[in-house]
Amino acid sequence: MRPRPHSAARGLTAAAAVILLTGAGIAVAASQASAAAGCRVTYSVNQWNTGFTGNLAVTNLGDPITGGWTLAWDFTGNQRVTQGWNGAFTQSGQHVSVAAPSYASSLATNATATLGFNADYSGTNQPPAAFSLNGTQCTGTVPTTPPPSDPTTPPPPGTKVDNPYAGARGYVNPEWRAKAESEPGGNRVSGNPTAVWLDRIAAIEGTPDSSSNGAMGLRDHLDAALAQGAGYVQFVIYNLPGRDCSALASNGELGVDDLPRYKTEYIDPIAAIQADPKYRTLRIINVVEIDSLPNLVTNTNVATCATMKQNGGYVQGVGYALQKLGAIPNVYNYVDAAHHGWIGWDTNFGPTADIMLQAARASGDVRNVHGFITNTANYSALTEPYFTINTSVNGTSVRQSKWVDWNYYVDELSFAQAFRQKLISIGFDAGIGMLIDTSRNGWGGPNRPSAASTSTDVNTFVNQSRIDRRIHAGNWCNQDGAGLGERPKAAPAPGIDAYVWVKPPGESDGSSSLIPNDEGKGFDRMCDPTYTGNERNGNNPTGALPDAPISGAWFSAQFRQLMANAYPPLS
Ligand code: BGC
Repeated sequence: MRPRPHSAARGLTAAAAVILLTGAGIAVAASQASAAAGCRVTYSVNQWNTGFTGNLAVTNLGDPITGGWTLAWDFTGNQRVTQGWNGAFTQSGQHVSVAAPSYASSLATNATATLGFNADYSGTNQPPAAFSLNGTQCTGTVPTTPPPSDPTTPPPPGTKVDNPYAGARGYVNPEWRAKAESEPGGNRVSGNPTAVWLDRIAAIEGTPDSSSNGAMGLRDHLDAALAQGAGYVQFVIYNLPGRDCSALASNGELGVDDLPRYKTEYIDPIAAIQADPKYRTLRIINVVEIDSLPNLVTNTNVATCATMKQNGGYVQGVGYALQKLGAIPNVYNYVDAAHHGWIGWDTNFGPTADIMLQAARASGDVRNVHGFITNTANYSALTEPYFTINTSVNGTSVRQSKWVDWNYYVDELSFAQAFRQKLISIGFDAGIGMLIDTSRNGWGGPNRPSAASTSTDVNTFVNQSRIDRRIHAGNWCNQDGAGLGERPKAAPAPGIDAYVWVKPPGESDGSSSLIPNDEGKGFDRMCDPTYTGNERNGNNPTGALPDAPISGAWFSAQFRQLMANAYPPLS
């Protein structure tokens, strides 16, 4: 059994230093009519020997600011911002300025904006001496406890860290990047890390002739990750026998009885490559078999799912993958755990956790599971800002609305945090962390509500308040109206290791009509905008975009809509 260090509190592995800068004249600022200005900035870093993540919170202690703000500072060394979020970053020499994002251009008195960035540096990483907001310096005391002058080095290669995303830069798949950049404005998002899907045996070597993925194989991506200086790289392990048993769009190449081939022709070669010592400095993250285990709980009325439950192909297959890949010291397995609109009911929440435990035990050690991921390739909102599961409307719980339909969760963040607790309570390691795929759950654009509804009818209230604009939460294919969600981000909330983009935005979920192909891609009517649904989506229209190509193939119209409806919006 390999050691698996965990800190008591989930969090970042590298040393963190916090400084607080307070603006002058704060006490009177809020009540004065003149344009009083003042600000407070907290700045903290999580650093390793060549890079760091900076987190900033700026509080406006002066009069309300409308119509934009700019936060600026000077680095004291050779720090260079490589990626920023929640603001438009520009750097010239040591000077950095961050313009407010368009969706948060106002800052009320005492309101706080949070932003962050990744940066490179060498030598020492002293914090900036001062910050200014709209030209007014947020002066104050520089920390009494200076940050460690000796930069923390990452743990020795081969030691698993608690959160592999913390303080590490993600690998940007050049094949996805090129597709994104082929679209107007695509370069605004093409620098984000997305996962590489190993969606068939041939993908291990590269599939130059397939509609999805590309010529680069597993080794090519790992080599490119080293060349990029990436800290982590993400793969999707996706080739179970009888794959995607309740849907047809991604059935894959292996038949229901092909577990032996799954082991020897798929998992073994992947494990051999990921174990190459050449890649020991990378944190290799595997998202393990999406849409598999929960199907054994909720969809055994579908023949293939019943077969996969009965023949043990999913549980044994996932167990084998976890065992082989989990044994590699720098590899991190995250098992797919559906989403709140699938297993958010008591009837399936606990039973799904139980089947996850079965698969983990089949691997020989539950610690082969580093964590779980929810919402992979789905559209469930991260948070519903205008109601929670505890909201009542005129004495009626939102649980009774048609949309929520007695679910215990209304969004992914609350679900992921609760599911994590459940998993720990039944026997998973207390150190497990969750990922949430936020690639396509932004729900911005013109149809996004901007306030809670005032209706006293629970259905009207929920329908007018919810940002998830789907027709039904069981709809999953190429959803019309969706937008890019939160950009990939480490440790964004308690229990959550990262928001990630696992489904590469712009890659289709499935074709709108039958397109013959030799890639194992069927036609699922949930991708047909004219279909009126089945029991899994309450017999509702599918809400799918028209004219979609087969799953994994580039869907330009969808990518453009995702950018247009991004939330946070793109500038
Ligand atoms: C497809 C894969 C593809 C993945 C990512 C899946 O639905 O079946 O071929 O790689 O989506 O786009």
